[in-house]
This record gives sequence, structure tokens and C-alpha cells, in this order.
Amino acid sequence: MRFIDEYRDARIARRLARDIAERTTRPWVLMEICGGQTHTIMRYGLDELLPRQLELVHGPGCPVCVTPLETIDRAIALALRPDVILVSYGDMLRVPGSNSDLFRAKAQGADVRIAYSSTEAVKIARANPDRKVVFLAIGFETTAPPNAMAAWQAKREALTNFSMLVSHVLVPPAIRALMVSPQNRVQGFVAPGHVCTVMGYQEYESLVRDFNIPIVVGGFEPVDILQAVLMLVQQLEAGQAKVENQYVRSVSYAGNLHAQRVMEEVFEIADQKWRGIGSIPRSGLRLRPEYADFDASRIFDLQLITADEPAECISAQVLQGLRKPTDCPAFGMRCTPENPLGAPMVSSEGACAAYYHYRRHAAAD
Ligand code: SF4
Repeated sequence: MRFIDEYRDARIARRLARDIAERTTRPWVLMEICGGQTHTIMRYGLDELLPRQLELVHGPGCPVCVTPLETIDRAIALALRPDVILVSYGDMLRVPGSNSDLFRAKAQGADVRIAYSSTEAVKIARANPDRKVVFLAIGFETTAPPNAMAAWQAKREALTNFSMLVSHVLVPPAIRALMVSPQNRVQGFVAPGHVCTVMGYQEYESLVRDFNIPIVVGGFEPVDILQAVLMLVQQLEAGQAKVENQYVRSVSYAGNLHAQRVMEEVFEIADQKWRGIGSIPRSGLRLRPEYADFDASRIFDLQLITADEPAECISAQVLQGLRKPTDCPAFGMRCTPENPLGAPMVSSEGACAAYYHYRRHAAAD
């Protein structure tokens, strides 16, 4: 297949769904890691094409959703300082912190600017030498290389007014944390194609070995996801567990080595808190000591800011595939994209937003 339309072709999708149904003889629980894949599943009703024995649950791969509450609170505290310009991806503005969000901070007069790339934040720093420019650097392995490049560029130019508030997360340690959880039900994973475009899929081999679980790297179009599900079902029904790559048009075994080198030069692996889930060992990235001058958490006094999740929001269970968004009593009632209680209702990759946009009728009553 060469064109995007072919990856959305209904006849191919139905044929794959038939193949999946023919090969499924037992109940299986599969998790797609990435929120972009969740949105495709909901948008095209792929789960409704599958046999009843196959359950798709949604994983923690929405970067906005897993950014810790205290990171949002720290960003708001920084934005409210008169000497700071806070630069962020647009999705982050409406994510609720403990008492407010960046959108409201902006309405109160904070200088919060939306950027589509980290290099825009560096440009803003260049253009405003009398202000301190802080970039809210969040995301998975996909955004880590460009964010690393921003720090690298700032260091090269000796910019003294640029820093980053870093909250980067990594996929393989999250899969490991899910697998060791006593509550885990997942028997096969669709790994996120964009993350693997950067990192390759060699690092998933140890997960397959340790947990005897199949992992298939999947793309983001309906045919991609159905094909990845078929590959998982084939492995599970045959009693196999290996890493396979459905997203061959983008992902190689070793990934993008240049991007990995940039990441390694700027970031080091660290324990990381995931919103709602808690701390996962060695599941995040922080700036290396050589980049301390660009680390907002060292430059500014932010360490005392801690926060608790609203009790009503069950996003931690949603992000671990233990419950569906429609199991949340607040879904579609007290929590909507206009008035979100939790991050998964805000983000364009959030599972709650996907259910709300494509399954509005399923709201709890
Ligand atoms: S519907 Fe809202 S309150 Fe419920 S889990 Fe999702 S984000 Fe949290």
C-alpha cells in the first residue's frame, strides 16, 4: 500500500476484521499504548468490528494525560512571575492543575505563549533577552529529540534566559510497570509507532522475554491497527510471544540513531512520576548536569509544590486499562472537554476525550 486512503479502506478493514474473528477462539485482552491509536479505534469504531472475546483497553500513551499535576502547578507558578514567559504546546493550556490551569493563568495576565515546536521557544528567548523564557518540555520519546535540540541550541548560543521545565516519560518502563501490577489483565500490546520511529523496537525484546507477552509495533490508521491486532491474535492463539513490526513503512529495528544520540547528549534517565499512577523507576528523562543552567527546576525555587489528584477522577485506572472512561461517574456530566476534571478529557490524545467525541451517547447517567 502506498497512499493514506488505502490505510482507511473499509473493504480491507472488514477483511482484516473477518480474519481476526476466524482466528480468535478464546478471550484476549489487548492494550494499545498510544492515545492517537485510541482515537483511531473510537473514531472508526474498530472495537465494534472485533469479536466479543477480544477486548481492547487503552494505555498510558497520552503525554498530556500523564504529566504530573505538580508539573502543571509549577508551570502555572512560573507563568505568574512577571519576569517569565512560559511557552507550551497548546494541549497543555487547559489541563487542570490543583486549582487552576495555564489558560486561566493567561487570562489573569500571565505571559503564556503557545508553540508548535521547542525551537519556537528558543526564538522567543532570543527575541526577549530581558525576560526569562521557560519551555514546558513534556512528552514521550517522540518529542524528546526536538526538545533536546532546543537545549543543545540554547547552550551553543550561550542563551542565559532560556530554560526547560522537563517532564519526559518513556514507554518500555511503563509497560513493565503494567505487567508487574497484580491488577494487570493485558495479554498483548500494540506498541506506539511514532515512539518506535525514534527508538526502534529492540528495547521491547526484554519485555517479551521477561513477561512472555507479544508486542506488535502498530501505526495509526484503521488498517494499521486491525493488522496489528491480527498479528497479536495470531501469536496468542499459537502460544507465541515475540516483537513484530506492523508499521514497517516508518519503523526500523534500531530506530533513528541520530535522534537517539541527541537525546542521550542532553537527557539522562531518571525515576519519573506519572499523573495518577505514581512514580515508575527509570521511566523518565531529566536534563544532564552539563545542562543544569537550562533546567527550570534548578533555576527557580519550585521544589515545594506538591499536589493531589481530584478524588472523583479515575484517570489512573483508565490509563492503566483497568476501567473505561464511561465507567467514570463524572464522564460527560461533571467532566466534559469544556469543563475537564482530568487530563484525559482535555488532550487530543486522551481516552476520555475520544469516548466523549465519538461515543457521546454512552455517557453515564
Ligand atoms: S471522565 Fe473526567 S473525571 Fe472521569 S476519568 Fe476521565 S478525565 Fe477523569
